[in-house]
Amino acid sequence: MNINRHSTSTLLEGLTHEQAQAVLHEEGPLLVLAGAGSGKTRVLTHRVIYLLEEKRVEHNRLMAVTFTNKAAKEMKSRIQSLSGAGYKTVEQMWIGTFHGICNRLLRAEIPFVDIKDASGKTLHWTRNFVIFDTQDSLNLLKDSLKTLNLDEKLYPPKVVQGRISALKNFGLLSAQFNSKAKDSYELKLAEIYDKYQEKLHQNNALDFDDLLLFTLELFRSNPDRLRHYNQHFEHLLVDEFQDTNQTQYDLLKTIVQGLQAGSDFEWSGRSFCAVGDIDQSIYSWRGANYKLTLHFKKDFPQASIIKLEENFRSKEQILQVANSVIKNNQQRIEKKLVCTRGKGEKVTCFEAADEIEEGNYVASEIKRLQAKGVHLHDMAVLYRINAQSRALEEALLKNKIPYRIVGGMRFYDRLEIKDLVAYLRLVYNTKDSTALKRVINSPRRGIGASTIAQIEEKADSLNMSLYAALADLLDSGNLGAKATQAAHGFVELIDSFVELATEVSVPELLRIVIERSGYLQALEAQDDEESEGRIENIHELLNVAQHFNEESEDKSLGAFLAQISLASDTDKLQDDDSAVTLLTVHSSKGLEFPCVFITGLEEGVFPHTRVLASSHDCNEDLEEERRLLYVALTRAEDKLYLTFARRRRLWGQREYAEPSRFMAEMPQECLSGYWGSSVIGRNN
Ligand code: ATP
Ligand code: MG
Repeated sequence: MNINRHSTSTLLEGLTHEQAQAVLHEEGPLLVLAGAGSGKTRVLTHRVIYLLEEKRVEHNRLMAVTFTNKAAKEMKSRIQSLSGAGYKTVEQMWIGTFHGICNRLLRAEIPFVDIKDASGKTLHWTRNFVIFDTQDSLNLLKDSLKTLNLDEKLYPPKVVQGRISALKNFGLLSAQFNSKAKDSYELKLAEIYDKYQEKLHQNNALDFDDLLLFTLELFRSNPDRLRHYNQHFEHLLVDEFQDTNQTQYDLLKTIVQGLQAGSDFEWSGRSFCAVGDIDQSIYSWRGANYKLTLHFKKDFPQASIIKLEENFRSKEQILQVANSVIKNNQQRIEKKLVCTRGKGEKVTCFEAADEIEEGNYVASEIKRLQAKGVHLHDMAVLYRINAQSRALEEALLKNKIPYRIVGGMRFYDRLEIKDLVAYLRLVYNTKDSTALKRVINSPRRGIGASTIAQIEEKADSLNMSLYAALADLLDSGNLGAKATQAAHGFVELIDSFVELATEVSVPELLRIVIERSGYLQALEAQDDEESEGRIENIHELLNVAQHFNEESEDKSLGAFLAQISLASDTDKLQDDDSAVTLLTVHSSKGLEFPCVFITGLEEGVFPHTRVLASSHDCNEDLEEERRLLYVALTRAEDKLYLTFARRRRLWGQREYAEPSRFMAEMPQECLSGYWGSSVIGRNN
């Protein structure tokens, strides 16, 4: 192997003293708390390389948790280029998101996970489990309510889904919650949770939160496996630590030092390095709790704490605006963040009559910047809520400005893609009844609603999967003649795919599924604009499969399905695209762009209307909105725009709005342009 080893000095080149200290940290816990753009992610990457190259840590004995798949990919490619390690070696490293890492662990370990339900029964999943997305899990939850004869009006499925998710993110299994339930509503909730989990089990499926909770449960209930991983992982690194939830935190703690935390823990050459910024905690609605960062100090009293106080990203006036906004939060630790990049231009403000004028302004400024030589891929337009993107998109389209949108309709959420993936899921795990329901009559093959209801009834009464129930019904000859013929055809088709799956590659299998299922044929027969678009998407899915087959270490069908389930909006962002990026503030975390537009700075949009409904001014929600704005402001390197529309069509109405209260928190001397019908600052 051609090892292109880096000496420590080259690895530390260009790092500040504090950054280098964090990279070189020897053993034990380390917390790096620092503001936006101070090089936290950079420190983490350099530390991984240092451990591999200088400390000769075996590549698979460290675990690095990133916030997105894209960040994991970037870290891997930097490791490859800076360390000279081979592609294969880097691919095998434990670098990924919490969900990605847990998925990998569970593919091996899930037979050892014992999940107790409320009646004390132990449930087991098998290694070919599938991952249900939010929509699949919502459907299953609705089924659970139906089975329990509960009214959706009293138990709105989305609300219940959120509650169950929160319980899972807090580390509670249904049985544990059941024993803690405080009132009749919570008891009911525990019952729904239990039923929902039973149904997931019938499907051999996990939802996103289960990936984390099951891994934690593996360690909580299986000392053998825990010991194995304790000994295996020598170094743990976590980015965006402020956005971990309780389950994730407990997972990390458990992997690092087993179940007995405490100050007398022997680190002997091992380390746990967490980096984060409390001011950027923006996922409390997903159970993230920035206070856990403070717990870290309590749980690991011997922790070294390093602060990074220089910002390498933004020009000074941008940073001043960001710093003076976030100062208004009370729930924070005051920190220093000084600029290293010079004063730069003032932040440009623009007040538009409505969202259409706002969009036009953004488009015209993009064109002006482009004429000055700024690349489109160096510009980003941020918004607080997805609904804002429509007016912006229209303006960009009208001005022929190419853009890509992060977090719009995901490729994998499209009907035809979900259908074909459902075929693959069913082939991989015939217990996946949600997948079966999607494909049993798609394309139409004469299996109608009454037949499906019959299959469901059978499955419910015998507590089996739909596929098994279908086979059972066919054996017993209880279906009508036409339905029998159609169902026979379907079972034969799926069985033939199952057999093929062991012999051919994923792209080959997909090609066969597309053809033999009749799916493509049905679309071709439709022959209109819509079906044409769908056929193009199917070809794109084939490309994805082909690419997976060429690039992935693990080329199995299970790995392909997991990759799709865990794909996220930011994954596809590429720097070389010649297009402006449109994205929500939430998905901009960790990213940076030379020019940034933050749109919709109005009361009711940013801060969000939810906050306005709240009675006091200084509540947790408002502080989270302020952190969100801090994240948005600190994405900008050189040029920042803030825009506001006096009237906006939103939530189905056209409403007048006040400028965001956060505007008043910004230092006027750093702003220029028009605001609230008055001129702010002086032009640059
Ligand atoms: P965020 O809080 O937004 O996640 P961060 O603290 O992780 O930011 P990075 O993304 O690691 O910060 O770094 C911000 C920018 O500063 C990057 O472009 C990075 O390459 C650069 N940078 C980091 N450290 C230095 C340094 N010592 N000298 C010059 N540039 C640096
Ligand atoms: Mg970062």
